[in-house]
Amino acid sequence: MKNELIAKSYEPECVEQKWYAYWETNGLFRGEAVSDKTPYCIVIPPPNVTGTLHMGHALNNTLQDILCRYKKMKGFNVLWQPGTDHAGIATQNVVEKDLAAKGTDRHAIGRERFIELVWEWREKYGGLIINQLKRLGCCCDWSRERFTMDEGLSRAVREVFVRLYEEGLIYRGDYIINWCPRCHTALADLEVEHREKDSHLYYVLYPFQNGGGHITVATTRPETLLGDTAVAVNPDDDRYRDLPDTHVLLPVLGKPIPIIFDRYVDMAFGTGALKITPAHDLNDFEIGNTHQLDRIKVIDENGAMNDMAGPYQGMDRFECRERIVEDLRAGGLLKKVEPYQNAIGHCYRCRTMIEPLLSKQWFVRTASLAKAAGDAVGSGKTRIFPANWEGVYFDWMNNIRDWCISRQIWWGHRIPAWYCRSCGAVQVAKEAPMRCPACEGQDLVQETDVLDTWFSSALWPFSTLGWPDPTPELKTFYPTSVLVTGFDILFFWVARMMMMGIHFMGDIPFKDVYIHALVRDAEGKKMSKSKGNVIDPLAVMDRFGTDAFRFTLAALAAQGRDIKLSEERILGYRHFVNKIWNAARFALMHLGNGEKPKPDQTAYTLADRWIMTRIGQVSRDVSRFIETYQFNEAAGLCYQFVWHELCDWYLEMAKEALYGEDGPVKESARSVIRETLTAALKLLHPFMPFITEEIWQRLPGTEGSIMTALFPDPAAFPGDEAALKEMDFLTGVITGIRNIRGEMNIPPSRNVSIVIDAGNSRDRDVLDRNLTYIRTLAKVDEVSIGQGLPKPDKSATAVFERTSVHVLLKGLIDFREEERRVRKEIGRAQNELEASRKKLSNRGFLEKAPEEIVAEVKARADGLAARLLKLKRNLSFLETLEDG
Ligand SMILES: [Zn+2]
Ligand SMILES: [Zn+2]
Repeated sequence: MKNELIAKSYEPECVEQKWYAYWETNGLFRGEAVSDKTPYCIVIPPPNVTGTLHMGHALNNTLQDILCRYKKMKGFNVLWQPGTDHAGIATQNVVEKDLAAKGTDRHAIGRERFIELVWEWREKYGGLIINQLKRLGCCCDWSRERFTMDEGLSRAVREVFVRLYEEGLIYRGDYIINWCPRCHTALADLEVEHREKDSHLYYVLYPFQNGGGHITVATTRPETLLGDTAVAVNPDDDRYRDLPDTHVLLPVLGKPIPIIFDRYVDMAFGTGALKITPAHDLNDFEIGNTHQLDRIKVIDENGAMNDMAGPYQGMDRFECRERIVEDLRAGGLLKKVEPYQNAIGHCYRCRTMIEPLLSKQWFVRTASLAKAAGDAVGSGKTRIFPANWEGVYFDWMNNIRDWCISRQIWWGHRIPAWYCRSCGAVQVAKEAPMRCPACEGQDLVQETDVLDTWFSSALWPFSTLGWPDPTPELKTFYPTSVLVTGFDILFFWVARMMMMGIHFMGDIPFKDVYIHALVRDAEGKKMSKSKGNVIDPLAVMDRFGTDAFRFTLAALAAQGRDIKLSEERILGYRHFVNKIWNAARFALMHLGNGEKPKPDQTAYTLADRWIMTRIGQVSRDVSRFIETYQFNEAAGLCYQFVWHELCDWYLEMAKEALYGEDGPVKESARSVIRETLTAALKLLHPFMPFITEEIWQRLPGTEGSIMTALFPDPAAFPGDEAALKEMDFLTGVITGIRNIRGEMNIPPSRNVSIVIDAGNSRDRDVLDRNLTYIRTLAKVDEVSIGQGLPKPDKSATAVFERTSVHVLLKGLIDFREEERRVRKEIGRAQNELEASRKKLSNRGFLEKAPEEIVAEVKARADGLAARLLKLKRNLSFLETLEDG
C-alpha cells in the first residue's frame, strides 16, 4: 500500500466498501467489556425494523459516529451499542398490507400465524436499515446488535413489568379506546381512518338549575349528552364570567351537573361551552380526570344505548341521535342546527364509525418516576444540549399523566398478566403461571394486549447491556456517556429512559443528551414525499460520496438551528474532498520512498514554524468543539484550516524548499508536510472516515488504521507566538499586493515591482527574510525595501500599521483604458443596484415574495453598494494618476 501511486481523482465507491470491511473484520468497532481504558458509550436510537435510511437517521448517526470515532482516537474504550426497534404498529401494518394484497387479514389467519409471519418478514427485510447505517460509515459494535423483541430484551421487559406491578407502579385503570362496534375490537390510533364528513352542529340549551336562563352548548354528538357529567368553559372567557348558578340541568334527563372551568376549552369553537362526557371522548376523559368527574357509559360494545340511557335504552346510537334531537326540539332546548364538516374516525377494516369507549387498560404510575427524572436534570447530573430544551423537559415532567402502556395490537411484548376464568383474579408473572393463587383453578388466560413500543425502548440503555444480569458490560458502560437524538422523541423516549434508568439502575442512563435539529430543504421547508422535496441520503452518497455528505451534515449542524440542506451544499463539500485528495497527491509525490523524513528544527522556515503552531491550536479547538457538541464549529475549523491555511498558504510556501536543492531545509519541509497532513487527516477522520483512511494507509510512517491513531495532542506542537505574528504580517502584505493587482486589473502573467517602506526594523527584518514568498506568491520581480522610502510616482499603496507597500503601475496598465473600464463597471453596478432597490421599495414584492427571496435581494443590494464604493475609489485613484 505504501508508496503506491495515488489515483488522479478520488473515487468513493470502492474506497468506502474496502475500508468498512477492513475496519469490521479487524474488530475496530468493538467495545471491550473489561478494559483499562476509560469507557465511552452511546446507545443508538434504535431505528424501526421497518425503516429505511432517511435524512433524520443520516444526521443522527453521523453525529454519533463523529463522537465515537473521536473518542476512540482520544484513547477511550468506545462502545456504540446498535440495534433495532420492533416498532409494534408500524411493523404490524406492513405485514397486514401484505395480507390485504393476498385478500386476507390477520383475524382470518389468527394471532399465532400472524406473529410468525411478522418474524418471517423481519428475517427477510429487517436488516435493510442496518446495511444502510454501514454504508454511512457507522462504527457500531455490530457483534452486540440487539432487537427489542429478542430473547434477552423480552426478559428485561417482563422483569420490569413484574417489578413495577409489585411496587404498585403498574395498575389497571379506565381509559378511552377506539372501539369498532362491528368488529368488536379495539383499534390502535393508526388503525383509525379519519374521513371528512358532512355532519351537523347542534346547539343545545342546558338550563341553570336555579331556573334563571341557560348555557348553550354546541355538539356534533347529541346522543352522548346522556353521559355528560359537566359543562366546561374557559376561565378566560368573558361570556361566562358572572354566571347566575354553579350547576345546569342535563336536558331530557333533568339531572344537575356542575359547570367547570378549564383552559383546555377552545373559546372559538361553538359557544365556548363544552359538554363533558368522560366515558365517550378521550379529551373529555382527561378533563374528567383533572376535575374528578364521574364516568357514565351510555353506549355499549354493540353501539347500542345501555341502561344508563334512560328512555333511549336499547336503541342503536344513530337512532338515538335522531330521537334525542326530536325530543330536544319538542322541549324547546334545541336552539339551532348548523351544517358542519368534521373528521370522523372509521374502522380501517370495515369502515364502521369508531365509538370511543371506556375500557380497562394498563398504566404506569409516573409521578414518583418523573420526579426523580426531573431532579436528575435539575441537579445537572444529566445535561441537555442545547440547554433551552431543559425547559420543555421540566414542563413535561411536571405535567406528566400516567402512561397508558397497553395496545390492542398483536405485534409486541404481550403483557405478562393472566386472568382466572373461574374467579377473575389477575396474576402478573415473568413466566406463565400454572394455577390461580386465589381459587387454585387452572383455567388461566393471558392478557391479549401488548405493550406500547416505547415501553421496551425505555429500557434500551441497560437492557442492551445485559440487564437484569449483572454483566461486566453494565458495570463498564452504564451510565452511558451521551444520547444523541431529535427533539420529537424527547418525551416519548428520552424522558422515559430517564425514569426507567434511574428506577432500575439507581443511576441516570446518560450523562449528556444532545438534541439535534431537523434536516429541511434549501428553503427551510420540511421534507415530505407529497412536496417532492425529499433528498434521499443513499442517492446523495452514490453521487457525491459518503464523506462529502457526512461533512455537509456536520458543517450545518449548529445547535438549535434547523439544517437547510441542498445538493449544492453537498457538492461544495465534495470539492473540499477533492481538495484534500489533491493536497495528499502533492504531498505523497514529495514524500517519496516510504521513509519518514528527518526534520532539523534549526532549518525551519517561518512557514514551517507557523503551520506547526497552528496544528496545535486547531487540534485543541476542534477537540473543544466536538466535546461541547458544536459540530458545525469543529467542521468549519477543519475546513478553514485544511483549505485556506494548509493548502492555500503552507503548501504554496513549501514549494520553495521542495523544489530547491537537497539539504536540511528541504528535508524539514518534507517532514513538516508529513506532520501536518497526518494531523489534518486525524482531525478530519471523525467527519470523513473513508478518504482519511485511504490517504493514511499510503503515508510514510503511519501504522495500522487511522481509527486507532491518537488524535493530535496540542501539547506536542510548538506554541510559537512570534511565528504567528510574523506570518500574519507576511500574508497580509502578499494579500495586499494581490488585491491591488486585482483591482487594477493587472494581467496575471505580468510581474510587478514594489517599493516597501518598512515602519520599523522588525517589519523590515521579517520582509527581508521572506522576500522569496512575496516574489512567488504575489508575482513580484523588483523589490526595494528600506525605512522612510518615499511613495513612488504612479503607484498604488497598501498599508499595514507602520509599513507601506507601493505597487508601481507605470507601464503595466493603460490608465485611460483602465479608467474607461472602471467607469463602465460603475455604470453597470449602478443599474443593477437601482433595479434591486426598486424591487425592495415595491410593496407588492415585499408582501408576496418568500422571506428568503427578499433577504437575497437585500444582500445583493448591499453587495452592489459596497462594490460601487470600491469602484468609485479606484476611479478617483486612477484620475490622480493621470494628472501626474
Ligand atoms: Zn370494524
Ligand atoms: Zn381463580
